[in-house]
Amino acid sequence: MTSVGAVTRQIAALEITGNKPTTSSSSSSKTTSASSRSLHTKQPSQNNVSKLLTKFAAPNPYTTKPAQPSSLRNPTYGHSKQPSTSDTTTPATKPARTAQPSVDIGRYDGGLEEENEKRGERVYGEAAEQLALDSSVSRKCPTREWSLHDFDMGRPLGKGKFGRVYMVRTKDPKYILALKTLYKSEIVQNRVEKQIRREIEIQQNLRHPNVLRLYGYFHDEKRIFLMLEFAGKGELYKQLSKHGCFSERRSARYIDQMADALIYLHGKHVIHRDIKPENLLLGINGELKIGDFGWSVHAPGNRRMTLCGTLDYLPPEMVEGKEHNEKVDYWALGVLTYEFLIGNPPFEDRNSVSNTYRRIAKVDLRFPSNVSAEVQDLISRLLQYDPQRRLPLTEVLTHPWIVRHRPQGVVRESMA
Ligand code: ATP
Ligand code: MG
Repeated sequence: MTSVGAVTRQIAALEITGNKPTTSSSSSSKTTSASSRSLHTKQPSQNNVSKLLTKFAAPNPYTTKPAQPSSLRNPTYGHSKQPSTSDTTTPATKPARTAQPSVDIGRYDGGLEEENEKRGERVYGEAAEQLALDSSVSRKCPTREWSLHDFDMGRPLGKGKFGRVYMVRTKDPKYILALKTLYKSEIVQNRVEKQIRREIEIQQNLRHPNVLRLYGYFHDEKRIFLMLEFAGKGELYKQLSKHGCFSERRSARYIDQMADALIYLHGKHVIHRDIKPENLLLGINGELKIGDFGWSVHAPGNRRMTLCGTLDYLPPEMVEGKEHNEKVDYWALGVLTYEFLIGNPPFEDRNSVSNTYRRIAKVDLRFPSNVSAEVQDLISRLLQYDPQRRLPLTEVLTHPWIVRHRPQGVVRESMA
Protein backbone atom coordinates (compact mmCIF):
# COMPACT_ATOMS: atom_id res chain seq x y z
CA MET A 1 0.00 0.00 0.00
CA THR A 2 1.31 3.46 -0.87
CA SER A 3 1.58 5.73 2.12
CA VAL A 4 0.15 9.24 2.24
CA GLY A 5 3.70 10.50 2.62
CA ALA A 6 4.86 8.75 -0.52
CA VAL A 7 1.94 10.05 -2.58
CA THR A 8 2.48 13.53 -1.22
CA ARG A 9 6.13 13.40 -2.13
CA GLN A 10 5.27 12.23 -5.64
CA ILE A 11 2.84 15.09 -6.10
CA ALA A 12 5.39 17.48 -4.74
CA ALA A 13 8.10 16.21 -7.00
CA LEU A 14 5.88 16.26 -10.09
CA GLU A 15 3.81 19.34 -9.67
CA ILE A 16 5.99 21.72 -7.79
CA THR A 17 9.15 21.05 -9.70
CA GLY A 18 7.10 21.12 -12.89
CA ASN A 19 6.06 24.69 -12.19
CA LYS A 20 9.38 25.74 -10.91
CA PRO A 21 12.30 27.12 -12.82
CA THR A 22 15.03 24.55 -12.80
CA THR A 23 18.23 26.56 -12.97
CA SER A 24 19.69 28.29 -9.98
CA SER A 25 19.77 31.63 -11.70
CA SER A 26 16.11 31.49 -12.59
CA SER A 27 15.12 30.20 -9.18
CA SER A 28 16.77 33.23 -7.69
CA SER A 29 14.24 35.34 -9.55
CA LYS A 30 11.69 34.29 -6.92
CA THR A 31 10.64 37.39 -5.07
CA THR A 32 11.81 37.10 -1.54
CA SER A 33 11.99 40.34 0.33
CA ALA A 34 9.01 41.30 2.44
CA SER A 35 8.86 44.66 0.68
CA SER A 36 8.31 43.02 -2.71
CA ARG A 37 5.54 40.80 -1.36
CA SER A 38 2.92 41.82 -3.93
CA LEU A 39 5.10 40.57 -6.79
CA HIS A 40 4.92 37.05 -5.56
CA THR A 41 2.00 35.15 -6.97
CA LYS A 42 1.66 31.43 -7.02
CA GLN A 43 -0.16 29.43 -9.64
CA PRO A 44 -3.52 28.10 -8.38
CA SER A 45 -2.44 24.51 -8.86
CA GLN A 46 0.62 25.20 -6.75
CA ASN A 47 -1.55 26.65 -4.04
CA ASN A 48 -3.60 23.50 -3.88
CA VAL A 49 -0.61 21.27 -3.78
CA SER A 50 1.00 23.41 -1.13
CA LYS A 51 -2.10 23.12 1.04
CA LEU A 52 -2.21 19.42 0.52
CA LEU A 53 1.44 19.11 1.38
CA THR A 54 1.33 21.20 4.50
CA LYS A 55 -1.51 19.03 5.73
CA PHE A 56 0.96 16.21 5.93
CA ALA A 57 3.94 18.26 6.91
CA ALA A 58 5.84 17.61 10.09
CA PRO A 59 3.80 17.85 13.30
CA ASN A 60 3.93 21.21 14.96
CA PRO A 61 4.20 21.14 18.74
CA TYR A 62 2.20 24.35 18.92
CA THR A 63 -0.85 23.25 17.00
CA THR A 64 -1.31 19.56 17.48
CA LYS A 65 -1.37 17.17 20.35
CA PRO A 66 2.25 16.38 21.00
CA ALA A 67 3.20 13.37 18.95
CA GLN A 68 4.56 10.49 20.99
CA PRO A 69 8.23 10.69 20.20
CA SER A 70 9.53 7.41 18.86
CA SER A 71 12.00 6.80 21.61
CA LEU A 72 10.05 8.39 24.38
CA ARG A 73 6.68 7.07 25.36
CA ASN A 74 6.17 9.69 28.00
CA PRO A 75 6.46 13.18 26.56
CA THR A 76 6.61 14.77 30.00
CA TYR A 77 10.33 14.32 29.90
CA GLY A 78 12.93 16.80 31.03
CA HIS A 79 13.97 18.65 34.09
CA SER A 80 11.68 21.59 33.76
CA LYS A 81 8.16 22.29 34.80
CA GLN A 82 5.47 21.18 32.39
CA PRO A 83 3.29 24.07 31.31
CA SER A 84 -0.19 23.61 32.70
CA THR A 85 -3.39 25.03 31.30
CA SER A 86 -3.52 27.49 34.16
CA ASP A 87 0.02 28.58 33.49
CA THR A 88 0.11 32.25 32.65
CA THR A 89 3.75 32.60 31.73
CA THR A 90 4.70 34.46 28.55
CA PRO A 91 3.01 33.02 25.48
CA ALA A 92 6.37 32.38 23.84
CA THR A 93 7.27 29.85 26.51
CA LYS A 94 3.87 28.26 26.72
CA PRO A 95 2.77 25.91 23.97
CA ALA A 96 -0.76 26.94 23.07
CA ARG A 97 -1.64 23.62 21.55
CA THR A 98 -5.28 24.36 20.97
CA ALA A 99 -5.26 28.12 20.43
CA GLN A 100 -2.18 28.50 18.32
CA PRO A 101 -2.91 31.98 16.91
CA SER A 102 -2.57 33.32 20.46
CA VAL A 103 1.09 32.34 20.56
CA ASP A 104 2.99 35.56 20.62
CA ILE A 105 5.88 35.45 18.17
CA GLY A 106 7.06 38.84 19.35
CA ARG A 107 7.74 42.02 17.49
CA TYR A 108 9.68 41.95 14.26
CA ASP A 109 12.42 44.57 14.16
CA GLY A 110 12.80 44.75 10.39
CA GLY A 111 16.29 43.31 10.82
CA LEU A 112 16.24 40.97 7.85
CA GLU A 113 15.66 43.71 5.28
CA GLU A 114 18.00 46.08 7.07
CA GLU A 115 20.73 43.47 7.15
CA ASN A 116 20.13 42.45 3.56
CA GLU A 117 20.82 45.97 2.35
CA LYS A 118 24.21 46.09 4.01
CA ARG A 119 25.40 42.55 4.13
CA GLY A 120 26.47 39.96 1.57
CA GLU A 121 26.72 39.97 -2.18
CA ARG A 122 25.30 37.91 -4.97
CA VAL A 123 27.28 34.83 -5.79
CA TYR A 124 27.78 33.51 -9.31
CA GLY A 125 28.84 30.44 -11.18
CA GLU A 126 29.56 27.18 -9.44
CA ALA A 127 29.11 28.64 -5.95
CA ALA A 128 25.65 29.92 -6.91
CA GLU A 129 24.70 26.46 -8.11
CA GLN A 130 26.08 24.77 -5.02
CA LEU A 131 24.18 27.10 -2.74
CA ALA A 132 20.87 27.08 -4.61
CA LEU A 133 19.43 25.04 -1.77
CA ASP A 134 15.72 24.36 -1.96
CA SER A 135 13.93 21.60 -0.08
CA SER A 136 11.04 21.54 -2.56
CA VAL A 137 13.37 19.91 -5.07
CA SER A 138 15.21 17.72 -2.59
CA ARG A 139 15.59 14.20 -3.95
CA LYS A 140 14.89 12.41 -0.68
CA CYS A 141 12.09 14.33 0.99
CA PRO A 142 10.76 17.19 -1.14
CA THR A 143 8.65 19.69 0.75
CA ARG A 144 6.27 22.29 -0.59
CA GLU A 145 7.86 25.35 -2.13
CA TRP A 146 8.71 28.01 0.42
CA SER A 147 9.60 31.69 0.25
CA LEU A 148 9.81 34.54 2.73
CA HIS A 149 6.22 35.53 1.89
CA ASP A 150 4.97 32.40 3.60
CA PHE A 151 5.98 33.67 7.05
CA ASP A 152 4.86 36.17 9.64
CA MET A 153 8.03 37.50 11.13
CA GLY A 154 8.50 37.63 14.89
CA ARG A 155 11.20 38.52 17.36
CA PRO A 156 14.93 38.09 16.77
CA LEU A 157 16.27 34.95 18.43
CA GLY A 158 19.95 35.44 17.90
CA LYS A 159 22.79 36.06 15.54
CA GLY A 160 24.62 33.21 13.88
CA LYS A 161 27.94 33.27 12.07
CA PHE A 162 26.33 33.82 8.68
CA GLY A 163 23.15 35.71 9.51
CA ARG A 164 20.29 36.33 11.91
CA VAL A 165 17.75 33.94 13.36
CA TYR A 166 14.08 34.92 13.84
CA MET A 167 11.02 33.44 15.45
CA VAL A 168 8.43 33.10 12.68
CA ARG A 169 5.04 31.61 11.97
CA THR A 170 4.03 30.09 8.68
CA LYS A 171 0.82 31.63 7.44
CA ASP A 172 -1.02 28.59 6.25
CA PRO A 173 -1.18 26.50 8.28
CA LYS A 174 0.21 28.28 11.29
CA TYR A 175 3.46 26.75 12.43
CA ILE A 176 5.94 28.31 14.82
CA LEU A 177 9.51 27.96 13.60
CA ALA A 178 12.96 29.51 13.84
CA LEU A 179 14.10 30.96 10.54
CA LYS A 180 17.86 31.09 10.18
CA THR A 181 19.52 33.12 7.42
CA LEU A 182 22.90 32.37 5.93
CA TYR A 183 24.62 34.80 3.59
CA LYS A 184 25.91 32.90 0.57
CA SER A 185 28.90 35.18 -0.08
CA GLU A 186 30.10 34.68 3.49
CA ILE A 187 29.76 30.93 3.15
CA VAL A 188 31.89 31.17 0.01
CA GLN A 189 34.45 33.44 1.70
CA ASN A 190 34.80 30.90 4.50
CA ARG A 191 34.95 28.04 1.99
CA VAL A 192 32.28 26.04 3.75
CA GLU A 193 29.87 25.47 0.84
CA LYS A 194 30.26 21.71 1.05
CA GLN A 195 30.04 21.70 4.83
CA ILE A 196 26.81 23.71 4.79
CA ARG A 197 25.28 21.49 2.13
CA ARG A 198 26.22 18.42 4.10
CA GLU A 199 24.85 19.89 7.33
CA ILE A 200 21.52 20.62 5.65
CA GLU A 201 21.28 17.27 3.91
CA ILE A 202 22.02 15.40 7.11
CA GLN A 203 19.73 17.42 9.35
CA GLN A 204 16.79 17.26 6.98
CA ASN A 205 16.69 13.50 7.24
CA LEU A 206 16.73 13.26 11.00
CA ARG A 207 13.65 12.73 13.14
CA HIS A 208 14.18 12.30 16.85
CA PRO A 209 12.66 14.20 19.79
CA ASN A 210 16.12 15.28 20.94
CA VAL A 211 17.44 16.30 17.53
CA LEU A 212 16.48 19.73 16.22
CA ARG A 213 14.30 19.28 13.13
CA LEU A 214 15.00 21.03 9.88
CA TYR A 215 11.59 21.32 8.22
CA GLY A 216 12.67 22.90 4.96
CA TYR A 217 14.95 25.41 3.29
CA PHE A 218 14.92 27.86 0.42
CA HIS A 219 17.09 30.63 -0.95
CA ASP A 220 17.17 33.96 -2.73
CA GLU A 221 19.95 35.77 -4.53
CA LYS A 222 22.05 36.43 -1.46
CA ARG A 223 20.73 34.18 1.30
CA ILE A 224 19.81 30.66 2.31
CA PHE A 225 16.93 30.28 4.79
CA LEU A 226 16.64 27.32 7.14
CA MET A 227 13.26 26.50 8.66
CA LEU A 228 14.23 25.05 12.00
CA GLU A 229 12.22 23.64 14.85
CA PHE A 230 11.79 26.44 17.38
CA ALA A 231 13.70 25.70 20.57
CA GLY A 232 11.46 27.55 23.03
CA LYS A 233 13.90 27.63 25.92
CA GLY A 234 16.91 28.70 23.89
CA GLU A 235 20.50 27.76 24.36
CA LEU A 236 21.61 25.25 26.95
CA TYR A 237 24.94 27.02 27.12
CA LYS A 238 23.23 30.13 28.49
CA GLN A 239 21.65 28.07 31.27
CA LEU A 240 24.98 26.53 32.11
CA SER A 241 26.67 29.94 32.20
CA LYS A 242 23.89 31.29 34.37
CA HIS A 243 23.98 28.46 36.92
CA GLY A 244 27.70 27.64 36.70
CA CYS A 245 26.87 23.95 36.74
CA PHE A 246 23.83 21.68 36.93
CA SER A 247 22.59 19.36 39.67
CA GLU A 248 23.21 15.64 39.22
CA ARG A 249 19.51 15.15 38.53
CA ARG A 250 19.38 17.75 35.78
CA SER A 251 22.69 16.59 34.28
CA ALA A 252 21.59 12.95 34.29
CA ARG A 253 18.37 13.79 32.48
CA TYR A 254 20.21 15.69 29.76
CA ILE A 255 22.79 12.92 29.35
CA ASP A 256 19.98 10.35 29.13
CA GLN A 257 18.44 12.29 26.24
CA MET A 258 21.83 12.84 24.62
CA ALA A 259 22.64 9.13 24.72
CA ASP A 260 19.28 8.28 23.17
CA ALA A 261 19.75 10.84 20.40
CA LEU A 262 23.30 9.64 19.70
CA ILE A 263 22.12 6.03 19.44
CA TYR A 264 19.64 7.23 16.84
CA LEU A 265 22.25 9.25 14.93
CA HIS A 266 24.82 6.46 14.94
CA GLY A 267 22.11 4.06 13.77
CA LYS A 268 21.85 6.30 10.72
CA HIS A 269 25.65 6.38 10.40
CA VAL A 270 25.78 10.02 11.39
CA ILE A 271 28.67 10.99 13.66
CA HIS A 272 28.08 14.39 15.23
CA ARG A 273 31.73 15.17 16.11
CA ASP A 274 31.01 18.50 17.76
CA ILE A 275 29.05 17.72 20.90
CA LYS A 276 29.39 20.63 23.36
CA PRO A 277 26.96 22.83 25.32
CA GLU A 278 27.04 25.58 22.64
CA ASN A 279 25.47 23.21 20.14
CA LEU A 280 22.57 22.17 22.34
CA LEU A 281 19.21 23.90 22.54
CA LEU A 282 16.22 23.42 24.81
CA GLY A 283 12.68 22.74 23.68
CA ILE A 284 9.58 24.27 25.15
CA ASN A 285 9.42 21.65 27.91
CA GLY A 286 13.11 21.90 28.69
CA GLU A 287 13.92 18.87 26.58
CA LEU A 288 17.33 18.79 25.02
CA LYS A 289 17.74 19.27 21.26
CA ILE A 290 20.97 18.58 19.45
CA GLY A 291 21.48 21.29 16.82
CA ASP A 292 24.36 22.43 14.67
CA PHE A 293 25.40 19.57 12.44
CA GLY A 294 28.21 21.65 10.96
CA TRP A 295 30.87 19.07 11.74
CA SER A 296 28.76 15.99 11.44
CA VAL A 297 29.51 13.42 8.87
CA HIS A 298 27.59 10.62 7.24
CA ALA A 299 30.13 7.87 7.39
CA PRO A 300 28.82 4.35 6.82
CA GLY A 301 31.68 2.02 7.64
CA ASN A 302 34.09 4.88 7.31
CA ARG A 303 36.99 5.91 9.48
CA ARG A 304 37.65 9.59 9.39
CA MET A 305 40.88 11.45 9.88
CA THR A 306 39.81 15.09 9.69
CA LEU A 307 40.61 17.19 12.72
CA CYS A 308 37.45 18.93 13.80
CA GLY A 309 35.43 19.83 16.83
CA THR A 310 36.35 21.94 19.83
CA LEU A 311 39.62 21.28 21.59
CA ASP A 312 38.17 20.52 25.03
CA TYR A 313 35.88 17.88 23.60
CA LEU A 314 38.40 16.18 21.32
CA PRO A 315 39.22 12.55 22.11
CA PRO A 316 42.81 11.24 22.23
CA GLU A 317 42.56 9.61 18.78
CA MET A 318 41.75 12.98 17.20
CA VAL A 319 44.33 14.89 19.22
CA GLU A 320 46.89 12.35 18.05
CA GLY A 321 45.71 12.62 14.42
CA LYS A 322 44.57 9.01 14.24
CA GLU A 323 41.55 7.59 12.49
CA HIS A 324 38.30 7.98 14.32
CA ASN A 325 34.76 6.69 14.26
CA GLU A 326 31.47 7.21 16.09
CA LYS A 327 33.20 6.53 19.43
CA VAL A 328 34.36 10.17 19.37
CA ASP A 329 30.81 11.06 20.37
CA TYR A 330 31.01 8.64 23.35
CA TRP A 331 34.07 10.52 24.58
CA ALA A 332 32.35 13.88 24.07
CA LEU A 333 29.39 12.60 26.09
CA GLY A 334 31.77 11.91 28.98
CA VAL A 335 33.25 15.41 28.69
CA LEU A 336 29.76 16.90 28.56
CA THR A 337 28.66 15.02 31.70
CA TYR A 338 31.71 16.37 33.50
CA GLU A 339 31.14 19.94 32.32
CA PHE A 340 27.45 19.87 33.32
CA LEU A 341 28.37 18.78 36.85
CA ILE A 342 31.59 20.63 37.50
CA GLY A 343 31.13 23.68 35.28
CA ASN A 344 34.20 23.27 33.10
CA PRO A 345 35.51 20.52 30.83
CA PRO A 346 37.83 17.95 32.44
CA PHE A 347 41.06 18.58 30.53
CA GLU A 348 40.81 22.35 30.25
CA ASP A 349 43.93 24.42 30.78
CA ARG A 350 43.14 28.04 30.19
CA ASN A 351 46.81 29.02 29.99
CA SER A 352 48.11 26.38 27.68
CA VAL A 353 46.54 24.70 24.68
CA SER A 354 49.36 22.20 24.45
CA ASN A 355 48.77 21.23 28.05
CA THR A 356 45.12 20.53 27.25
CA TYR A 357 46.29 18.27 24.43
CA ARG A 358 48.69 16.52 26.79
CA ARG A 359 46.05 16.03 29.44
CA ILE A 360 43.62 14.59 26.88
CA ALA A 361 46.22 12.17 25.53
CA LYS A 362 47.07 11.03 29.09
CA VAL A 363 43.38 10.99 30.10
CA ASP A 364 44.39 13.09 33.09
CA LEU A 365 40.98 12.97 34.74
CA ARG A 366 40.41 14.39 38.23
CA PHE A 367 37.18 14.83 40.15
CA PRO A 368 36.32 17.28 42.89
CA SER A 369 35.30 15.53 46.10
CA ASN A 370 31.61 16.48 45.93
CA VAL A 371 30.90 14.39 42.82
CA SER A 372 29.08 11.10 43.47
CA ALA A 373 30.95 7.83 42.95
CA GLU A 374 28.18 6.73 40.63
CA VAL A 375 28.68 9.49 38.10
CA GLN A 376 32.46 9.28 38.42
CA ASP A 377 32.04 5.68 37.33
CA LEU A 378 29.99 6.68 34.27
CA ILE A 379 32.38 9.46 33.23
CA SER A 380 35.48 7.28 33.67
CA ARG A 381 33.91 4.55 31.55
CA LEU A 382 33.19 7.00 28.74
CA LEU A 383 36.57 8.75 28.94
CA GLN A 384 38.61 5.72 27.98
CA TYR A 385 41.73 6.21 25.87
CA ASP A 386 40.90 3.16 23.75
CA PRO A 387 37.71 3.95 21.78
CA GLN A 388 36.70 0.28 21.84
CA ARG A 389 36.67 0.27 25.62
CA ARG A 390 34.26 3.20 25.97
CA LEU A 391 30.93 2.35 27.53
CA PRO A 392 28.38 1.57 24.78
CA LEU A 393 25.56 4.12 24.61
CA THR A 394 22.92 1.47 25.30
CA GLU A 395 24.75 0.84 28.59
CA VAL A 396 24.73 4.55 29.34
CA LEU A 397 20.95 4.30 29.25
CA THR A 398 20.99 1.49 31.81
CA HIS A 399 23.72 2.96 34.02
CA PRO A 400 22.50 3.27 37.64
CA TRP A 401 23.19 7.03 37.72
CA ILE A 402 21.01 7.61 34.65
CA VAL A 403 18.28 5.18 35.73
CA ARG A 404 18.09 6.69 39.23
CA HIS A 405 17.38 10.16 37.85
CA ARG A 406 15.06 9.19 35.00
CA PRO A 407 11.50 10.43 35.56
CA GLN A 408 8.98 7.69 36.25
CA GLY A 409 7.20 6.33 33.22
CA VAL A 410 9.86 7.25 30.68
CA VAL A 411 10.76 4.22 28.62
CA ARG A 412 13.38 4.37 25.94
CA GLU A 413 12.84 2.38 22.79
CA SER A 414 16.55 1.86 22.27
CA MET A 415 16.57 -0.02 25.58
CA ALA A 416 13.65 -2.29 24.78
P1 ATP B 1 27.43 30.45 16.31
O1 ATP B 1 28.68 30.10 15.63
O2 ATP B 1 27.47 31.77 17.03
O3 ATP B 1 26.88 29.32 17.15
P2 ATP B 1 25.60 29.73 14.26
O4 ATP B 1 25.82 30.18 12.87
O5 ATP B 1 25.85 28.30 14.61
O6 ATP B 1 26.39 30.72 15.18
P3 ATP B 1 23.18 29.43 15.67
O7 ATP B 1 23.93 29.08 16.90
O8 ATP B 1 22.43 28.33 15.03
O9 ATP B 1 24.13 30.11 14.63
O10 ATP B 1 22.12 30.61 15.92
C1 ATP B 1 22.44 31.79 16.56
C2 ATP B 1 21.53 31.99 17.77
O11 ATP B 1 20.16 32.00 17.39
C3 ATP B 1 21.65 30.86 18.77
O12 ATP B 1 22.68 31.10 19.65
C4 ATP B 1 20.28 30.83 19.44
O13 ATP B 1 20.22 31.78 20.47
C5 ATP B 1 19.37 31.29 18.33
N1 ATP B 1 18.74 30.12 17.67
C6 ATP B 1 19.25 29.43 16.64
N2 ATP B 1 18.45 28.42 16.27
C7 ATP B 1 17.39 28.47 17.10
C8 ATP B 1 16.20 27.68 17.24
N3 ATP B 1 15.98 26.65 16.44
N4 ATP B 1 15.32 28.01 18.19
C9 ATP B 1 15.57 29.06 19.02
N5 ATP B 1 16.67 29.83 18.94
C10 ATP B 1 17.58 29.55 18.00
MG1 MG C 1 25.82 27.57 16.66
